[in-house]
Amino acid sequence: MNLPEMFGENVFNDSVQKETLPSEVYKALRATIEAGKRLDISIAGTVASAMKKWAVSKGATHYTHWFQPLTGLTAEKHDSFIEPEGDRVIMRLTGKSLIIGESDASSFPSGGSRATYMARGYTAWDPTSPAFVKEGTLYIPTIFVSYTGETLDNKSPLLRSMTAIDKQAKRILKLFGIDCKKVSTAVGPEQEYFLVSEETYFKRKDLQLTGRTLFGAPVSRGQELEDHYFGVLKPEIAEFMRDLDSELWSYGIFSKTKHNEVAPAQHEMAPVFSTTNVAVDTNMLTMELMKKVAHRHGLACLLHEKPFKGINGSGKHNNWSLSTDTGLNLLNPGASPESNTLFKLVLTAVIKAVDDYQGVLRASVASAGNDHRLGADEAPPAIISVYLGDQLGALVDSIVKGENYVAGKASEGSIGVPESPIFPKDATDRNRTSPFAFTGNKFEFRMLGSQANVADANICLNTIVADAFAKFADELEGKKDIESAVNKVIERELKAHYRIIFNHDGYGPEWEPEALKRGLLNHKNTADAVPVCYEDENVEVFVRQGVFNRAEAIARADIRLENYIKIINIEALTMIEMAKRDIIPAVSSFIGKLCRDLSAKSAVSSNLPCKTESGLIKKLSELNDGASEAVDRLEEHLKGIDKSDVLPASQAMAHVIVPDMEELRKIVDEMETLTSSDCWPYPVYFDILYSVK
Ligand code: ADP
Ligand code: MG
Repeated sequence: MNLPEMFGENVFNDSVQKETLPSEVYKALRATIEAGKRLDISIAGTVASAMKKWAVSKGATHYTHWFQPLTGLTAEKHDSFIEPEGDRVIMRLTGKSLIIGESDASSFPSGGSRATYMARGYTAWDPTSPAFVKEGTLYIPTIFVSYTGETLDNKSPLLRSMTAIDKQAKRILKLFGIDCKKVSTAVGPEQEYFLVSEETYFKRKDLQLTGRTLFGAPVSRGQELEDHYFGVLKPEIAEFMRDLDSELWSYGIFSKTKHNEVAPAQHEMAPVFSTTNVAVDTNMLTMELMKKVAHRHGLACLLHEKPFKGINGSGKHNNWSLSTDTGLNLLNPGASPESNTLFKLVLTAVIKAVDDYQGVLRASVASAGNDHRLGADEAPPAIISVYLGDQLGALVDSIVKGENYVAGKASEGSIGVPESPIFPKDATDRNRTSPFAFTGNKFEFRMLGSQANVADANICLNTIVADAFAKFADELEGKKDIESAVNKVIERELKAHYRIIFNHDGYGPEWEPEALKRGLLNHKNTADAVPVCYEDENVEVFVRQGVFNRAEAIARADIRLENYIKIINIEALTMIEMAKRDIIPAVSSFIGKLCRDLSAKSAVSSNLPCKTESGLIKKLSELNDGASEAVDRLEEHLKGIDKSDVLPASQAMAHVIVPDMEELRKIVDEMETLTSSDCWPYPVYFDILYSVK
């Protein structure tokens, strides 16, 4: 494979645009993409025809407006390029079909912001994310809005949030005499996933229907030996990763790092970061390709946040930074952050934003799947805090306490063997337990779920930081002695938001009570996390920054809760079905077999020892009755919930149904450990987690 040659071969990227478009058209398009200039509609026809010609040369026969409705997934409807001409056809893509498409919006989630009888929705071309050809179709990234202009997707608010932060960051830069065309956020999403054999996958209804195992006793060897992390790749996994890499590269996705993760069968792929909008699109495509490539290898790729109980779940670390088109990274502290006032102000804005809007930020990553990570027995915790590391931590401390700052030096390390090189050591160690950690020249937001569309978290992050910038700019613009005015703001705001900074172990038992004392929020599940989104100040911030109108903000919260309710409902129904039709009958027949064995034994002689059989019969009979009762209870409770009223319904799901499900699982998992493997109806954790060679 000639990697530089094949990289991006399926993408209508900058170089292809340059090659195929007349230079005036090319320049106009780039001005829109790079400097955010409004697209000149008159060029659409030319771009469309070049795009079509290129796509057809790649074997495309169809095109689709590719969009991201609020299902959390992507959506596509394919139209062919053909147009009849006499009794023949020609291949055509008009400017109009490139720019706008009409789509029935009534079957997508809208949070009640659009009545079904007003079903019209539009998809509109997003030229900032490149089109690509996949499986004979030209994919045109688009936004999705309703007839009345309400956003029905993830991309429009994301673009709006990028515009907001661009605008407000430029005001901040201006205070420092810095002019630039555009400030953009960049994201590098690290994607975790599990790979298991399809053979076992297709024997588990729960994996197929819900993406996770709803039952399953822990395996004797989980992750305690810590030998999987960065371990040697199994041959089948290595082949999968090689294949995935070439797919990703062909779509211009900068897949950079791949390795085994902590849990058995768990892996990670990290791309090189790109502008947020592109990062979101390519991450959606990455997840889709992971599943497809896995299937080609007889594997199933599990993107759920918690496919298996008792071992680590999967997340998506959202590395986030902010840079000008001239290459200045606003989160780069430089060699002496203490005298880098711009950096300190930007850092302060992020800290303020995260503290003021910790509730919405937490809610932006809330989902039924992610509830198993956040606030459960694994990291990061559900409490939002900011980790700064030793160097910046000391700097912020010195500002807050009014003390002198003594710069810690980046030092050199050596392993004490003369042949080995001296290496430079970072000024801060890593902290893996913080939900929001400063890592050199970016923040790493670690609470995102592995299957999430990263747009949600970034819409929120961009908006709240833009808002903090706006507040600072409002106060500082027109001040004479800018330096001292800025320093005053920094000191005041760092003091006000000091509570959100936590530079220690986020998993430690001391943190929860400490956070409570500090007044930080600790919402452990989606039902408890989302309601803050209805609070006025949390709606207003999106309205102020032009990201959502009121109705849209409320609709998004409704949809998040609706989605949560639906998922828990599906999980509960799947559990009931598995328990009633497979597990309880299986245990019953095993008990029957034991009884037959027992009576056969006593027929031989009445004084043969039979404690094993009789003990098991008793124990399993009790457990199986317990399982039946737990199923009945779950069914009964589920029936009693009016799912149309999202607030009480989500509360009931979180506080009645989820505990019911846990109770049922506990009994079933115990039965699993007592039932003979030939009688158990499903592959168990060992079979699934160690199914790949
Ligand atoms: P690690 O987190 O393992 O230390 P890196 O920090 O090198 O690894 O990178 C992790 C992810 O962060 C990668 O996806 C990388 O592209 C991304 N990243 C690195 N620098 C930036 C940046 N300035 N802005 C956004 N993402 C970045
Ligand atoms: Mg990382």
